[in-house]
Amino acid sequence: MAFDETLKVWKNGRIIPWNEATLHVASHVVHYGSSVFEGIRCYKMAKGSAIFRLGDHIQRLFNSAKVYRMPIPGSVDELCAACKDVVRANAFEEAYIRPVVFRGYGALGVDPTTCPVETFILTWKWGAYLGQEALEHGVDVKISSWNRFAPNTLPTMAKAGANYMSSQLMKLEAIADGYAESIALTDQGLLSEGSGENLFIAMKGKLYTPPMAASILNGITRDSAIRIAGDLGFEVLEQDLPRESLYLADEVFFTGTAAEVTPIRSVDRIQVGSGVRGPITTAIQRRFFEVISGKAEDRYGWLDFI
Ligand code: PMP
Repeated sequence: MAFDETLKVWKNGRIIPWNEATLHVASHVVHYGSSVFEGIRCYKMAKGSAIFRLGDHIQRLFNSAKVYRMPIPGSVDELCAACKDVVRANAFEEAYIRPVVFRGYGALGVDPTTCPVETFILTWKWGAYLGQEALEHGVDVKISSWNRFAPNTLPTMAKAGANYMSSQLMKLEAIADGYAESIALTDQGLLSEGSGENLFIAMKGKLYTPPMAASILNGITRDSAIRIAGDLGFEVLEQDLPRESLYLADEVFFTGTAAEVTPIRSVDRIQVGSGVRGPITTAIQRRFFEVISGKAEDRYGWLDFI
């Protein structure tokens, strides 16, 4: 993906040119991974453009920063407004929005407290993360040889840049082995999540998803899928799941801001169910796409119009 360098970026309260959104190599974040971030989507619909669950994403950003004792200058409302500003500044109707907060240029000890906390918001056009085809036909995935973080090591409820070193190990292994994505197990060998997606399993008409304690990010799309599934009359159980439940499931799918709702058609080259997108995945995906396209009424209050 090549970036359009004519884009505008939001930096600490100002809109600046893309090529000026730089930082010094002595910044704390470059050495110690001290950043937290969000990934948000803005969708075009008949009534205008709307950002999906903006307040929830920005609240999660503040929560991530809280875990790392990183004081974000400004409020949730101010950063929500800033996300809208940067989309407007780029005249985007549809966009991916990436707020990132990090420890900047100050000192290079591990102690970050003398480094300024900087906030940037990038936005660009980003299509289907795992491919348009994947949304319909599903992806082939493997179980990663890398586990998710053990409890009380790196906090998974914080969406920190450093967590994505592990995600990169997972993704690189998946690519090297010819898969679209991989799924990590917990340190106990139970199902956790993908490198950038949460996981759902359908078995005998019920939906299952690993719980918060399975070292997952508390995904906003995961929460949306749980709400939609409930509305459609499916029971959703947040519980520990063994690896082999993936092989024996009727349906498996990923959720995520980038991946949206993506079916999984095989795990470790073992076909999931009938190997095509199943009825429960289809129903949840359809309702999700209806909401984000403005075709269904937003009775959840998920859309924040620009
Ligand atoms: N898990 C991980 C590790 C992720 O990076 C993401 C993407 N943010 C998700 C799950 C899905 O979260 P969300 O639905 O909030 O995008």
